[in-house]
Amino acid sequence: MATMESLIGLVNRIQRACTVLGDHGGEGGSLWEALPSVAVVGGQSSGKSSVLESIVGRDFLPRGSGIVTRRPLVLQLHKTEGGQAEYGEFLHAPRKKFADFAAIRKEIQDETDRLTGKTKHISNIPIHLSVYSPHVVNLTLIDLPGLTKVAVEGQPDSIVEDIENMVRSYVEKPNCIILAISPANQDIATSDAIKIAREVDPSGERTFGVLTKLDLMDQGTNALDVLEGRSYRLQHPWVGIVNRSQADINKNVDMIAARRKEQEYFATSPDYGHLAHKMGSEYLAKLLSKHLESVIRARIPSIIALINKTIAELEAELDRLGRPIGSDAGAQLYTILEMCRAFDRVFKEHLDGGRPGGDRIYGVFDNQLPAALKKLPFDRHLSLQNVRKVISEADGYQPHLIAPEQGYRRLIDSSLSYFKGPADASVDAVHFVLKELVRKSIAETEELKRFPTLQSDIAAAANEALERFREDSRKTVLRLVEMESSYLTVEFFRKLPQEPDKGSNSSAPTVDRYGENHLRRIGSNVSAYVGMVCDILKNSIPKAIVYCQVREAKRSLLNFFYAQVGSREKKQLSGMLDEDPGLMEKREAIAKRLELYKSARDEIDSVAWK
Ligand code: GDP
Ligand code: MG
Repeated sequence: MATMESLIGLVNRIQRACTVLGDHGGEGGSLWEALPSVAVVGGQSSGKSSVLESIVGRDFLPRGSGIVTRRPLVLQLHKTEGGQAEYGEFLHAPRKKFADFAAIRKEIQDETDRLTGKTKHISNIPIHLSVYSPHVVNLTLIDLPGLTKVAVEGQPDSIVEDIENMVRSYVEKPNCIILAISPANQDIATSDAIKIAREVDPSGERTFGVLTKLDLMDQGTNALDVLEGRSYRLQHPWVGIVNRSQADINKNVDMIAARRKEQEYFATSPDYGHLAHKMGSEYLAKLLSKHLESVIRARIPSIIALINKTIAELEAELDRLGRPIGSDAGAQLYTILEMCRAFDRVFKEHLDGGRPGGDRIYGVFDNQLPAALKKLPFDRHLSLQNVRKVISEADGYQPHLIAPEQGYRRLIDSSLSYFKGPADASVDAVHFVLKELVRKSIAETEELKRFPTLQSDIAAAANEALERFREDSRKTVLRLVEMESSYLTVEFFRKLPQEPDKGSNSSAPTVDRYGENHLRRIGSNVSAYVGMVCDILKNSIPKAIVYCQVREAKRSLLNFFYAQVGSREKKQLSGMLDEDPGLMEKREAIAKRLELYKSARDEIDSVAWK
């Protein structure tokens, strides 16, 4: 049966895992924030680090006079099975086990210096240390820099306020249990610890008053007024402590001896003898652990609610990122084809409406093509001068007798070849619209987001196909133009009014076949014919383009790709499904966090109802 102790251990493990996963900090919703922790606050040299050490029962914190603790230390104690070796582990150096507690102290110092330099500056980025030992109680403790009154040499003027703000940022959280350390050899009215604790916890329900340095009080005085709650009332009883003095530390008096000395001190003290069973670091550790139990017990429903909410959020996030893919070729091929289909769906939506972009193809036919046709230089080409030139060149040495058949043909032929330009340009314009739609569709295909390689494979295949469609389309529209010049519409010429046989009302009895009027008439006949062809092409070019490019893109954009993919080896397939490493990491991190929260839920469930 799971015990309350294991529940605290679980909370500790969850906090540790949260820390490793980076799941703490200010969002307020994290599990870390929901779980209780204990922070040690007090003035500089009041004995904070010493208290922490005696709770742990180990020497491992840098201690001394002046500002020693310059970064918060988040200390997680994990109780292990008896007989197992003790060790510490830092978050910043995972997998490195410190069996030697002196080495831990050195690492704390070095890690502090790494951020702040060998200065007297502080940093609010915490150092995370876990201690695994059969001799500790499950607890999370936070050692904080001491509160000061003035900046000393080498410190910025803001340091006093900086430290206070840092300390406050920890102790103001409602789940923070405050271990308020005051030295007994100072008036309690001047205690920095009590000052800040009172500010953030006016009712005193989460503040534990700890009085250190009882041994250093002036002869003839005692701290009974404080310890018995008469000086400053808290909801929890005050605990008096005798830590090792600096001289003890210098003499390497070990913790076991120190604890024994402390117990002896209380047991034999004329002042505190009657309180001995409620004094000392061992008692403090048990008191804290018991309090933590009750806090956790009260919090279980809200912790479970938070866990469930977080699990739901993480599941949703995983769905959004996409679940991992099976590793066999079949599953991979299936995934690739699914992705292609998803892309194809988006692409078609762009063409058929629903998503924007397809309308730009109509824009090519409705604006661009007519505008380009209108701009063709027929005025110049069918000017009097040019008509004369072309006709006489076509006539050769024998001027035409009735109508300049050759001249007509040459004028028409050369005019019609102008249509190639706009036809070609329309093919290209539609091609670029389609290419852009491919690009957009790839970007908009949610499922594809995680596969950058597949994205570029699909893009390449689609663009290759579009290129083929464009060549086919170009051939077709040019053929349309060539067809127009290969056989002229005889009808049109038959219907042309005959040369003006002006008869009676004509001033000139005969028409001057080589005169300006005659040439102008030829020019305008050709122009009318070209106009008619222009109208035809204005309609048929779009039809050809849609047939060759747009319809094909809708029908078979990825057909070639499908055929290729189908014959690929497993290795190539998994290469195509390479994921963005950032995304893979993210998914992995979420999956890990999900696992943590799920196991937390299971464990809490199994404990909570006992
Ligand atoms: P911190 O700055 O609050 O972390 O204080 P430390 O734990 O580093 O202690 C400052 C100094 O006070 C060290 O030299 C300790 O040995 C000494 N000290 C702390 N508590 C006691 C105590 O209860 N009795 C005696 N005699 N010295 C103590
Ligand atoms: Mg300290």
